[in-house]
Amino acid sequence: MKKNLAAGVLIAALLMLNSCSADKAVDSTANVSGDKKSSGSVFAMDTYMTITAYGNNGKKGIEAAQKEITRLEKLWSVTDENSEIYAINHSSGAEVPVSAETEELLKFAIDMHGKTNGALDITLYPVLRAWGFTTGEYRVPDDGEISELLERKGADKITVDNGKVSVPEKTEIDLGAIAKGCAGDAAARALKEQGVTSALLDLGGNIQTIGDAKPDGTKWKVGIRDPFGDGSIGTLTVGECAVITSGGYERFFEQDGVIYKHILDPETGRPAESGLASVTIIGSEGRMCDALSTSLYVMGLDDACAYWRDNGDFDMILVTDDGGVYVTDGIAERFASNSEDVTVVER
Ligand code: AMP
Ligand code: MG
Repeated sequence: MKKNLAAGVLIAALLMLNSCSADKAVDSTANVSGDKKSSGSVFAMDTYMTITAYGNNGKKGIEAAQKEITRLEKLWSVTDENSEIYAINHSSGAEVPVSAETEELLKFAIDMHGKTNGALDITLYPVLRAWGFTTGEYRVPDDGEISELLERKGADKITVDNGKVSVPEKTEIDLGAIAKGCAGDAAARALKEQGVTSALLDLGGNIQTIGDAKPDGTKWKVGIRDPFGDGSIGTLTVGECAVITSGGYERFFEQDGVIYKHILDPETGRPAESGLASVTIIGSEGRMCDALSTSLYVMGLDDACAYWRDNGDFDMILVTDDGGVYVTDGIAERFASNSEDVTVVER
């Protein structure tokens, strides 16, 4: 049971119109006060993505970006029997040859597993499946089942070397926490290669921008979703960057009056109860922002702030379960909040 049925219906309707094909997915091109604006959409990685590009090369750029996203989805899908991740998950411990992109992303994920003290763990797939988060057939597994499944986890058990990957027999990978951010980086590169210098990519709420501003000189304005409702908690004004949010509201189910959310604490194998309702990361690389949005959500407010102080190089907006908003000082002046309860986090 996904929260927003209306959104699901809308996505389904758009899907029918668009037939998901990257090749024919450029939707429209228009001239707005002399600035040509093209937009296109694609359904990939379980989400509806839209790209808006300005300038004469927009259409070509969008087509290239859509192809890139579709190509990466084919490599990283857990359900597509031809994907590299599917091959690894069904390898019974044998070595699997992988593309350079997959090798690089797995190495990144293993590195981030260490840096986040295990909060980001791409090997939770068996546990996520037991909860039904991968299938929509939701259930609450019992303690014994969870602890048995947790024995299979551990991104540090993945071996990646020279284009070959191996995992212990029952360990399985799910790139859901980082694939969209990484696909956004690749899509942005594809747009730039076609000469696009101003564009906005919305990958299911993950925003990535190209260029410091729109051609008319206005900066990008990104609404930050209210985790407790359909509105926004404020608006962030940015140049070229990624703005990526993780929140329990994105996927959850309710059983016997208890709400179970899709981001798991790898320590317990249960939905993370860290006191955070959403985490937005702002930085230059989508992949890194995506990895951090998930893992800092697991860590909770204090550890997330400590991680930020130690690692720098990004900004964040945290919303706590009681509605408090915490904004790091690098973006505090660029965030117009709708809430009175804002704390600026300093180094
Ligand atoms: P995101 O929306 O980027 O935060 O990614 C959430 C998705 O990542 C979930 O739907 C799961 O597929 C997966 N996931 C959940 N918990 C974790 C975790 N602690 N580490 C890595 N992936 C996770
Ligand atoms: Mg993420």
